[in-house]
Amino acid sequence: MKKILVTGGTGFIGSHTAVELQQHGYEVVIVDNLSNSSVDVLDNIAKITGTRPAFEQFDLADQARTAKFFREHHDLSGIIHFAAYKAAGESMEKPLEYYRNNTGSLINILEGMRDNGIRDIVFSSSCTVYGQPDQLPVTEDSPFKTAWSPYGNTKQICEDILRFSSQLLPVRVIALRYFNPIGAHESALIGELPLGVPNNLVPYITQTAIGKRECLSVFGNNYNTPDGTAIRDYIHVVDLANAHVIAVERMIREKCKSRMEIFNLGTGEGYTVMEVIRSFERVSGVKLNYKIVSRRPGDVEKVWADTRLANEELGWKAVRTLDEMMLSAWNWEKALAQRQ
Ligand code: UDP
Repeated sequence: MKKILVTGGTGFIGSHTAVELQQHGYEVVIVDNLSNSSVDVLDNIAKITGTRPAFEQFDLADQARTAKFFREHHDLSGIIHFAAYKAAGESMEKPLEYYRNNTGSLINILEGMRDNGIRDIVFSSSCTVYGQPDQLPVTEDSPFKTAWSPYGNTKQICEDILRFSSQLLPVRVIALRYFNPIGAHESALIGELPLGVPNNLVPYITQTAIGKRECLSVFGNNYNTPDGTAIRDYIHVVDLANAHVIAVERMIREKCKSRMEIFNLGTGEGYTVMEVIRSFERVSGVKLNYKIVSRRPGDVEKVWADTRLANEELGWKAVRTLDEMMLSAWNWEKALAQRQ
């Protein structure tokens, strides 16, 4: 059985990917410092797949500890690196923590790969590297725009580190640029678990609907879009997870066309904030309490993916609709409420 390291595997996208990997016959080892996730996720992965993944709790920004891990796991067939800080707003308050954690962890992992002959890494990148693109839908060769937050900048820097590493070291990379991952596993056993007040739209919507938050603030309705609210390309987390399995398989089967490949992962469809709210109301039957407030600093007006490269090269396509995304997110929120 091929063994894959999933860093950040108890987190939102990591946990869904661990499930899909196991269901495709891979052995999964999770490393996570549990800074933004719970160890209970492992039990829930086991409930879905029948197998509890191996787990080691430590901080990948710790160089010596990470080196020890890699010495003990030199038989890894590949790595999917999710573990990172991810809140743009928070990164404005803690810029150095973001730089140290996000770039330091990646460097420690690359050292572990170099020193132990592990070749393949899939990296969690983000459409944030594009900023507000000049052309939509945005293709992978669109240039990076100056990042507005340290968080976004760490994704750009990490891609740069990976590009040179792929040229100068025996390392091969697939960077996946996610658009807006939402939703939850159909079992409602795993999903997004934001600590404290959510920054992201969909957890804020479901928490408001369940009564944990009073009212959703819609950030701006004077954008140049059909209803004035901002447009994003929302993608179901299970579709996203499946793309990671395909990326790992592509590397293992020697199908990569260059030492670093980059793919957008989205549906290719853009929806406004109001369309997301309407979808939620439709599938849940709950009327959402929301108000329009001013724009959130740093938000781009509109972005959606050109997904042709992923569709054609990976043979992957996001298949779940916005309604399915919202319904699964709602089922997850309700399941959480029952557990608490
Ligand atoms: N948004 C909103 N209210 C919220 C959170 C988000 O109106 O409480 C909007 C945000 O301005 C953006 C969209 O929802 O247009 C998606 O935001 P999110 O933070 O989920 O993802 P981002 O695209 O910023 O990474």
